[in-house]
Amino acid sequence: MPARELRAVFLDLDDTLTEYPGGFGAVLESVYRRAVSAGAPADGFDRFRRAYWNSTCGLWAAMHAGTISGRQARLVRMRRGLEAVSVSDDALTQRLSHHWDDLALNSPDLRPGADDLLGWLRGRVFLGLITDGYADLQRRKLKRLGLEDRFDRVQISEEVGTSKPFARTFRLSLEAAGVAPVEAVMVGDNANSDVRGALGVGMQAVHLQPGGPVNTPAGATWAGDLADVRRLLEEALG
Ligand SMILES: [Mg+2]
Repeated sequence: MPARELRAVFLDLDDTLTEYPGGFGAVLESVYRRAVSAGAPADGFDRFRRAYWNSTCGLWAAMHAGTISGRQARLVRMRRGLEAVSVSDDALTQRLSHHWDDLALNSPDLRPGADDLLGWLRGRVFLGLITDGYADLQRRKLKRLGLEDRFDRVQISEEVGTSKPFARTFRLSLEAAGVAPVEAVMVGDNANSDVRGALGVGMQAVHLQPGGPVNTPAGATWAGDLADVRRLLEEALG
């Protein structure tokens, strides 16, 4: 990482400070197993998943514009996934949406090194969280993991109406921290939303990628785990 004065560190939440056992994909597979036991076709998972994810972009845009709540967005997304396998059942849609919420909220654990990293950073720099997602779920997840009071500022996309990788998302956090982009680093697992987004506004970026720097964008620094992240930041902070 370039040795510049560092005054703020921003972290992503999901798959950066936390990890899902079996990966986040396991959450949707678990949801679909319940759909099958309620009558959905056993070979329909790919169709369900495609429709489910294809609807996400438009629903998040509506959520960030404030025309739909995160809770409603999750229900509509589940309904569109089920419609792709010819299932139309409001009660089942509600049950599966609640099951997704339960897994998304309760299955992730803190990644090894998260507690150490946060404890070491607090007070040394402005420490912020920038996470995309549903306000109700992200707030409850932070509380469950004991993270709610460990940042100087928490920014959740539904609450501010903008998500990564849009420049406005990063600028909101930079303004709140009172730092210039070059004085800040974004740490996250997603090469596009976390890393390219941050680089695009002139911030420094660390790409957390346990499998190796296979898709780490030029200009970013790769880290294999959170202990690596701490070492990089220790060097940058002197
Ligand atoms: Mg992430």
